[in-house]
Amino acid sequence: MKRIFFLITLFIIFIQTFLPVFAEGEPLKIMSLHYDDSSSIVYLTSKEPPSDPKALSDIKIVKLSNPNRIYFDIENAVLIGEKKQLIFEKSNVKEIRLAQFETNPDIVRVVITFEEDFDTSKIKLFSIDGNIIVQISKPQIGNDYFNTIYDENTVNPIYSNIVANSQFIQKVTIPASSQVKIPASVMDDIQRAFENSTLPNTDGKTYDSTVSVDISSKLKLRTKYFIDQYLPKDGGLLVSGLGQITTAKMFYLKEPNRTVIDLPNAYLEKDIRNKEINLCPDGSCKDTAKIGQFEYNKARIVITSDKPDKYMPIYSQDGQSLFVIDSDKLDHTQLANNISNINKVFVRKIDSRTNELILSFSSPVVHSILRTDNSLNFFLFNVKSYNEMDIIKTLGNSYYKQFTLSLLPKIGVRAAMPINKDDIVKVEQSLDSKALKITIIRTQQQTKTEKVLKKGAIKDKVVLDAGHGGSDYGAIREGINEKDITLDITQRVESILRSKGYKTALTRKKDTYVSLEDRVTFSEEETPEIFVSIHVNSAVSESPSGIETHYYHDYSKDLAKVVHKHLMKEVDTNDRGLVKSKFYVINHTTVPAILCEIGFISNDKERNELVSEKRKKATAKAIAEGIIEYLKDK
Ligand SMILES: [Zn+2]
Repeated sequence: MKRIFFLITLFIIFIQTFLPVFAEGEPLKIMSLHYDDSSSIVYLTSKEPPSDPKALSDIKIVKLSNPNRIYFDIENAVLIGEKKQLIFEKSNVKEIRLAQFETNPDIVRVVITFEEDFDTSKIKLFSIDGNIIVQISKPQIGNDYFNTIYDENTVNPIYSNIVANSQFIQKVTIPASSQVKIPASVMDDIQRAFENSTLPNTDGKTYDSTVSVDISSKLKLRTKYFIDQYLPKDGGLLVSGLGQITTAKMFYLKEPNRTVIDLPNAYLEKDIRNKEINLCPDGSCKDTAKIGQFEYNKARIVITSDKPDKYMPIYSQDGQSLFVIDSDKLDHTQLANNISNINKVFVRKIDSRTNELILSFSSPVVHSILRTDNSLNFFLFNVKSYNEMDIIKTLGNSYYKQFTLSLLPKIGVRAAMPINKDDIVKVEQSLDSKALKITIIRTQQQTKTEKVLKKGAIKDKVVLDAGHGGSDYGAIREGINEKDITLDITQRVESILRSKGYKTALTRKKDTYVSLEDRVTFSEEETPEIFVSIHVNSAVSESPSGIETHYYHDYSKDLAKVVHKHLMKEVDTNDRGLVKSKFYVINHTTVPAILCEIGFISNDKERNELVSEKRKKATAKAIAEGIIEYLKDK
């Protein structure tokens, strides 16, 4: 027994020591093949890295003609996913095939067929961690094809609309032996394979039916970015690789001060991970950079610097590299060798929350995106001119009306727009880099608006909130109660709005007590466009008088401005201005909400006016007209 054990042990040692001499090791298990039309890259994914790291290093591309095609063989490989044949229409690539070419020895072959006049000499082949990448070329397409380069929407990292925007490929056909209608579960498998090419897509089953899928609407494809280089360059960091780079919103960490840029959908070459590099090899700064595979599908750049907010990300014209540099050190003349102009801008409202702006350029643009809590900024470094009048006219009264352009000496054009902290920004760059598409998805309040629109009939509804009521008198002076004035004015505003065709809902219609929570709940359930609360002010001192309009959330400020403007126009009293206040009802409502303090009950003169027909009429008219102007502008 002991002897047998000894022999087995010896045999194992023998195998481990000499096996590579006699055999090629475990065959590479090829899972699947995907074609990413956005960057014209074919991905072949394998189940695990090859046992011999050099196994994939000498794959040779063989060129053939009639038809114009290439093929390459992967030796010692078995296809455990399905055999594949993808046929493309309206593309340089006509067909891609993946099959087990031989079984003894095991060889997997990939054949790619092109248009007759397509130059196949520039095709490159890479192997990364057992995955094989074929880079075909920069595709010949116009600027209506966009790649995401900046995305704050971290919830869904899968770029579902990549193919949907494409005019490039209209159809992919997966042919097989029979005409049986493909079951939905198989379709789901294909979909999943496209969505996540590094996961095993199936247990190796084949699809023995024909399916012709319009991938522009059905199949989703994931862009990948393989980072194989990061270098110090001119005091900054140059990250480059294969495929389309996308960044997330930059953020900062303290102790030590760091700038963090995440690259979703990126895979990092193992050799370059977690190595710290000095950004100033000449010793002019102490800043360092590190890049790591932060998550399975996300790379992270961390720059340690005394002034982390000085760093800006600059996107290359081909969308395949990112240059992160201290803005003080930036030499703008080095960024591009071409000059570009803004040809045209386009605005489009996608839905009540989502608005799109496209900037179209005369030649490829080099740019930087800087997002702060309150603004979105673009530096268009090689842009030297634009037609301001034309742009102002196009932006008009759209969501992008506050988008401003300014020509800065040496730097180029700076474009900026105020936005809310919670707005979600997405920026896409056309493949020819002659267009940028900016999409802003507005904050929560618009979700409500959308809900209202979905309901159909109700379009412009206003919730009016008469302050106090019932046992809650509000401020009282000389037998005059705040609760009575607020209800009176509210009912007047309601009747004006209704006479103009607007819908209204009142948190109270009579002299009853309604809690603040109930007022908010009522409004939320009504899903109005806006919420307007009416109150009367009071002070210990008799002297203060005048009108204040309160708002809390930034998205309510426009409404406050417009209504206050009308109050000042109609009512002859002191202008106490806009006030940012955390009143319960305007803080907790999710639509634009304001609270008007229509005058001081504690001031004798103003109190007498407040109960006069003239003042009541003017106040109600002003509030109603303010509301109407605001709703019309939206
Ligand atoms: Zn009050």
